[in-house]
Amino acid sequence: MVKYTDTGIVSVILEQYSGKRALLLAPLVSGRKGHYKDLFETLVRKGFQQVRVDGRVYDLLSLSPLDRYKPHFIELVIDKVIPDDSSGKRLSESVMSALHHGKGSLSLLLADSGEIRHFSKNLMCPVSGLSFPEPAPYTFSFNSPQGACPRCKGLGMVSKADLSKIIPDMELSIGAGGIKPVGEMRNTLLFRQMEGIAKKYGFSVHDPVKDIPEDALNLILFGSDELIRITGNSSGGGSTSQMVSFGGVISMIEQGPDDGEELSQKRERFVQEVVCPLCNGSRLKEEALGFKIDGLNIAQVSAMEMDQLQLWLAAVEEKLDKRQAMIARDVLKELRERTNFLIEVGLEYLSLDRSTRSLSGGESQRIRLATQIGSKLVNVLYILDEPSIGLHQRDNRKLIDSLKRLRDEGNSIMVVEHDQEMITSADWLVDMGPGAGEKGGRVLFSGEPSVIDQMTPSEIQSLGSYTIDYIKEVRRIETPSQRRPGNGKVLELKGAKGNNLKNIDLKIPLGCFIGVSGVSGSGKSSLVNETLMPILSRHFYRSLMDPLPYDSINGINNVDKLIEIDQTPIGRTPRSNPATYTNVFTEIRKLYGETQDAKIRGFKAGRFSFNIKGGRCEECKGAGVQVIEMNFLPAVNVLCKSCNGKRYLPDTLAVKYRGKSINDVLEMTISQAMRFFENVPAIFPKLKALDEVGLGYVKLGQSSTTLSGGESQRVKLATELARYSTGNSLYILDEPTTGLHFEDVRVLLEVLQRLVDQGNTVIIIEHNLDVLRSVDYLVDMGRRVAPRVEPLLPQEPRSR
Ligand SMILES: [Zn+2]
Ligand SMILES: [Zn+2]
Repeated sequence: MVKYTDTGIVSVILEQYSGKRALLLAPLVSGRKGHYKDLFETLVRKGFQQVRVDGRVYDLLSLSPLDRYKPHFIELVIDKVIPDDSSGKRLSESVMSALHHGKGSLSLLLADSGEIRHFSKNLMCPVSGLSFPEPAPYTFSFNSPQGACPRCKGLGMVSKADLSKIIPDMELSIGAGGIKPVGEMRNTLLFRQMEGIAKKYGFSVHDPVKDIPEDALNLILFGSDELIRITGNSSGGGSTSQMVSFGGVISMIEQGPDDGEELSQKRERFVQEVVCPLCNGSRLKEEALGFKIDGLNIAQVSAMEMDQLQLWLAAVEEKLDKRQAMIARDVLKELRERTNFLIEVGLEYLSLDRSTRSLSGGESQRIRLATQIGSKLVNVLYILDEPSIGLHQRDNRKLIDSLKRLRDEGNSIMVVEHDQEMITSADWLVDMGPGAGEKGGRVLFSGEPSVIDQMTPSEIQSLGSYTIDYIKEVRRIETPSQRRPGNGKVLELKGAKGNNLKNIDLKIPLGCFIGVSGVSGSGKSSLVNETLMPILSRHFYRSLMDPLPYDSINGINNVDKLIEIDQTPIGRTPRSNPATYTNVFTEIRKLYGETQDAKIRGFKAGRFSFNIKGGRCEECKGAGVQVIEMNFLPAVNVLCKSCNGKRYLPDTLAVKYRGKSINDVLEMTISQAMRFFENVPAIFPKLKALDEVGLGYVKLGQSSTTLSGGESQRVKLATELARYSTGNSLYILDEPTTGLHFEDVRVLLEVLQRLVDQGNTVIIIEHNLDVLRSVDYLVDMGRRVAPRVEPLLPQEPRSR
């Protein structure tokens, strides 16, 4: 980026171009559409003779009008000069004049070589001649209109119409709905416009789309300024006629919501979010990207992963001259410190331009932690809730080290954790238990962990703490003594190259338990969740998910179905619960409908639903609680005063099965309900499955909104277990042990192993070492290398 003064320009020209024939040009128009008739007339009146238009010099008087639909570059020819010392005065007058007409910029065109040199009093790129406003911090902010890319408004993405979805069938006519977003022929302005176009171009709206002349179809899709005559019926019964231009179906779709409710509703089906073509996703104006440090613009620097950035920041200082180094010193120091903090908390794989929306909870928590480490505060109590979630073992150690640093600076840190390393690193340990839900709620141990080290195994067992048992290895997850070879069939994915995947091939043996491991950011999710899973779900369920780029997939027919079991909630309303999700509640209602009590009263199964009118309390619509909206505060649930939380009308509650009302059943824990319905074949297996995945403590009617991600995932798993299995399904689980206790992990592993024993394939993305030790095959992803897929050998039993 350079910048000149008036006299500076004159002396550079004299110095470098002495004796060479040249034109002095003042840039007037750069890359804008128009015929510019008025401009040329004004220039003639002012006495100028020549202009350079799109690279050619013309006499103003003989210039024919320009194509108004094309962008033009127009420069005014100010003077023809041969710079030498004697022409100094004339040159400097001409330069002043050129700078005046060119608003601070001018170009020098050498007549013999055709070489062009740009000068500007503003900041300017010497190669392109683009001149820039003085930079300010907002120039580099995509949140500011001065910095944001004008096309995508700083989002980096734009909506683009997908032609194959807009015209899926060229045989259909416009009238029959050939242009899908506008639907079939109706009496609307839009169709009258298209009839107008049809008349003008000599086709009918009832012709197949493939027979419509290309110009006309382009006009319909992309619009133009061209006027079209449309006719309609006036209120008086006669016909009206007017000339209008047509904006095109695509712009109606891309611009979105304002243009008719029907179009906007369907909009999402016809557009894709694509990287903004103007800024290439950098979100910034071209001007902002013109400023470079060490050859890189701000978008390129922001795209670096944190550890690359650290290297770059270290190297860049060397390349600055003395003055630049002085200006940059403080900024560089700040940048280096903050980059180091982020690396210390295990986020070296993040780039600065990652949107916060795409960060996991653990990652955002660690970013906040990194800012705290830099703040140098003392006497602060930090409370962290499972910060190690999603962290690889190696990064976990870094996290622990940074927490210790915060402590050493004079702060207290309280961490709620399952992670063994975190627990044993604590100065003080509080253990809660012994079980979950109703079986918990007591403090089993509170003290320095070293106290436990001195206990004998029997003393440890007498604490009654699963956690301490696992840590001291009084209890442990056994590594399987045999690995399954699989059923001989494979699923093979070739050439996966989305996100950071390096054109990799993946061969998965079927009928096995497969672990996918790797540090955070190594591409596990890109490979499994964003490539493999969408491919399979398009195949099995015609889903619209787009997989990341890949070359081919083989062996998809070796699998019957895909079951994804994630941690998303099983329902978003307080009305859904494990009983409704697993469908066991349908069976329970049937059972109540068949009781003697119900038959006497004429109640059917529907009477026992809390989701429909009939037997439920209408005051709370069967929720048992009422939601009180508090302005500006989170809503509060209070017990319904009409039914006192019992969800049903008194006569519904009067119906008993083995002495219990329907609400008593919803209040039972899953373990209690399992024993209660032991002899009901339609109900028992579903409850048993829930109990087996370790959810025995959850109440049957517990609102799904109060279940954790891990609990929701296990409800889904239980539902699958209770279902008829083809024994040839592919299960995909993403970090199912997140937030689980050692004992819960053991239970979960047992369930998964059972699914594989039935012949299914389970793919599990995990950090948990106990899980990874238990799989048959391991796919290990490295951050910058290809994955290794290898069978695990049976291990020697761990010796102690
Ligand atoms: Zn853009
Ligand atoms: Zn109620």
